[in-house]
Amino acid sequence: ESRRVAEQVSDVLALFERVCAREEAELGRIDAIAGDGDHGQGMAYGSKGAAAAARTALQDGAGARTLLVRAGEAWAESAGGTSGALWGGALTAAGGVFADDAGCTARTIVDALDAGIAAVLRLGGAKVGDKTMVDALVPFRARLSEAFTGDNASEAIIEAATTAREAADATADITATLGRARVLGDKSLGTPDPGAISFSILMTELGLHLG
Ligand code: ADP
Ligand code: MG
Ligand code: MG
Repeated sequence: ESRRVAEQVSDVLALFERVCAREEAELGRIDAIAGDGDHGQGMAYGSKGAAAAARTALQDGAGARTLLVRAGEAWAESAGGTSGALWGGALTAAGGVFADDAGCTARTIVDALDAGIAAVLRLGGAKVGDKTMVDALVPFRARLSEAFTGDNASEAIIEAATTAREAADATADITATLGRARVLGDKSLGTPDPGAISFSILMTELGLHLG
């Protein structure tokens, strides 16, 4: 059972790698307007590094907790950049919810997402309205806790991801105050925050994958 959980977590990271590769050009295009242009590359490198670390951990016989901690470290190292450090911290924190030698319920998945989001809020220190991924994470988290009834992780995540996407799109209406986008000031008006967009895309794919 614990072996199967580790395999499933590794499968999710492989999914993230494929999705980030698919979205790399578009995320780079958005970050070039609202930031410094490297968000697509950062997400592609980070998720690739994390998926590779997960495969290695799986071969070593590691459980889900250890696998996620190693994947988080690899994401931060491979990506560089702000979002890489935050995604790495999120994966590592999510790993803390899993055990190496136990199963996984729908509740474990939702708690792991919650822990990952809490880590981003803590490490990044951004607030809603700063035009960062936090603008998508916070409404995602609220919708997820409303929609989750105890066994519908997939549906609840899909629903929360729809909310996250709407919130990410709405960041086009704000001027960035944090991160590299801040030096570009009003240039980011009309363009959404790339980190909020990439988060909402990955959560949609996660929800569909779990279904
Ligand atoms: P960098 O900004 O170092 O070039 P990326 O382009 O990969 O890194 O990531 C940029 C994204 O990181 C932004 O779109 C934003 O969503 C997110 N971000 C930046 N600073 C913070 C922060 N303090 N808290 C949360 N997210 C942040
Ligand atoms: Mg960037
Ligand atoms: Mg950069």
